[in-house]
Amino acid sequence: MEKKLRKYTPSKYFTFSVHMDGLKTEHDLAVCRDGVYEVAIKAIQAALKRGFRVTTNTTLFDDAEPEQVRKFFDAMMELGVEGMMISPGYSYAKAPDQKNFLKRNRTTELFSRILHRPRKGWRFNQSPLFLDFLMGKVDYQCTPWGNPTYNIFGWQKPCYLLQEGYASTFRELLEDTKWENYGHGRHEKCADCMVHCGYEASAVDDTFSSWRGFSRTVKATLAPSVR
Ligand code: SF4
Repeated sequence: MEKKLRKYTPSKYFTFSVHMDGLKTEHDLAVCRDGVYEVAIKAIQAALKRGFRVTTNTTLFDDAEPEQVRKFFDAMMELGVEGMMISPGYSYAKAPDQKNFLKRNRTTELFSRILHRPRKGWRFNQSPLFLDFLMGKVDYQCTPWGNPTYNIFGWQKPCYLLQEGYASTFRELLEDTKWENYGHGRHEKCADCMVHCGYEASAVDDTFSSWRGFSRTVKATLAPSVR
């Protein structure tokens, strides 16, 4: 990233979203390579210095230590990133390391411990209701079309986690995917998923389509520490 920075121009429409899975020990372990944390930190510092918007995205697995994750949030804020995105690791069937993927009850327990009494300066790049969902304070059904993935093969069905084929156009993706077959309790591969790409959209929808969701969002935004 640092090497390629000169090819880009800072813009309010463009964000570098840097994958960071924790502090040095946790991150290097998660990506199976020593030294990557420091490379990423240097790249973030260089991007911020040149005026780019920078956010982080973090996947947490079963072995995450809440106090270490909280220290990681502090470190990212101190670094000056604009916001942090967090999500639980998803137990997809093809992954080689099944034992560290989170089950639903373990996800809500872990995120409750991490996000309980959040420190004042933490900024998350996601809906407060999605964080409530991760803590088990509210339940949602998945909105798999809310955050579609497009790559060199086309539009991935139904979401970036499941590989159920590709549609060549966005219209085809929307019209030909059997959306009602996906989500918690609807598909065996969705059983433990609480991932942002499906549930963040549901949280945002709740915010803007119900007074209950809207007032909950206002409360969570104004007084996150009393969650
Ligand atoms: S629950 Fe939604 S986001 Fe998760 S795997 Fe299923 S369709 Fe994809």
